[in-house]
Amino acid sequence: MIDLAVLEGSSFVVLGLARSGLATVRALLAARIDCVVWDDNAPAREAAVALGATLADPAAIDWSRVDALIISPGIPNLLPEPHPVAAAARAAGKPLICDVELLARARPAARYVGITGTNGKSTTTALIGHVLEGAGVPCQVGGNIGRGALDLAPLGDGGVYVLELSSYQLELLETFRAHVAVWLNVTPDHIDRHGDMMGYVAAKEHIFDRQKARDCAVIGVDDDYSRAVYDKIVARHGIACVPVALDRAVARGVSFHAGLLVDADGYKVDFAEVPTLPGDHNAQNAACAWAACRWLGVPRDRIAEGLRSYPGLPHRQEQVAAVGSVVYINDSKATNADATARALSSYRDIYWILGGQAKEGGVTPLAAWFDRIRHAFLIGEATEMFADQLEGKLPYSRCGDLQSALDAAHERAQRDMQEGKGPGIVLLSPACASWDQWRSYEHRGDAFRAMARALPGAQSLGRAA
Ligand code: ADP
Repeated sequence: MIDLAVLEGSSFVVLGLARSGLATVRALLAARIDCVVWDDNAPAREAAVALGATLADPAAIDWSRVDALIISPGIPNLLPEPHPVAAAARAAGKPLICDVELLARARPAARYVGITGTNGKSTTTALIGHVLEGAGVPCQVGGNIGRGALDLAPLGDGGVYVLELSSYQLELLETFRAHVAVWLNVTPDHIDRHGDMMGYVAAKEHIFDRQKARDCAVIGVDDDYSRAVYDKIVARHGIACVPVALDRAVARGVSFHAGLLVDADGYKVDFAEVPTLPGDHNAQNAACAWAACRWLGVPRDRIAEGLRSYPGLPHRQEQVAAVGSVVYINDSKATNADATARALSSYRDIYWILGGQAKEGGVTPLAAWFDRIRHAFLIGEATEMFADQLEGKLPYSRCGDLQSALDAAHERAQRDMQEGKGPGIVLLSPACASWDQWRSYEHRGDAFRAMARALPGAQSLGRAA
């Protein structure tokens, strides 16, 4: 836990008492910092009271005594409608901040790597943490991924906090400075909270605020918005900018082409040796991680070793088992067609398990990848919708539930192998929410991992359950 003694004498209101909010409350209470707390949800309030926190009366807060509102980034503070407590804090002229800001104030001697982007944040954050750990650099990984910022261990000089930062968090920082800011990509998302695309991009751009000479901005330049951001940051005097691009060389940058990552000095890593980061999207993540770790002084060989030994994150194209040469992959995090497209584009000869609670448009946006699929196995509520969409385009079976789908896919993959068709990939990438049959995508993915490892002749791959 982070010691917040530096805040002695301050007084806060904490709004939002889920994972990061409760970690904030624990840290404030441990340092005896004055605070009152609120969450609209009664069980969340009870959890905070159990820690010893005092509940606020949200309608009657005396803002004249308060220094700042510490708000959970998930709670709207402006759009589409500000939470009443956030509106009251603003009306009283009080700053709105988040837990990452408190971490920055409490650990000023540490170095910070901030990672943002519409997609790939968690993967890149975990990968940078893995490389630094392997290279013996003291580091802590958290923020929007895993542990809340104030649950992390204290680091001093030479220590590196590697923080996944959402657009919501980035708007709630006042002194935080990223020594290395990683910007992966940007596509339309969260427009309800930011008003429009420009608002969303502007929120993310806060990751570069307060960067100084000798700090570094790593920027993926494969989309138009990100290229414009790169041009803007390059024009800012003193900051080193490292562009990252797919399929084209970039001066003083890192690129990925034909399965090879190539850095500014021509050092190459062959991604045939990096099985846990398949697909161009993961190459973008890896290239950004490469640039960030180089800037932190990790030798190239150590970074390459870190890429090769990266275990991957659960539920994101996670290799879970093999039976003979057929590999079983858990991509349960793919709850929409866009995410499933990334997985389908990464493999060929796919036995595709999909379905659940469908999103608008279903799987029609995935038609470009249908020639990579040997057979589709449909589950859950989306079955009839997807059967209509796949009709005449690729062979499919209605399987009902995940276990039946896996059994059917397994049997077909093994039979095809024996008939000389060559090995395939059994891929759970549902393009659907999980809630019709599971508690969450994690629950669905954990079940798939266990089922695949229980298949006759299965050998476990990757991380432990
Ligand atoms: P985030 O934390 O930003 O949601 P994750 O690393 O958890 O990102 O990846 C979530 C999903 O986003 C992946 O399963 C994959 O489908 C997709 N994805 C990952 N990296 C990228 C990328 N660089 N560009 C586009 N899509 C990506």
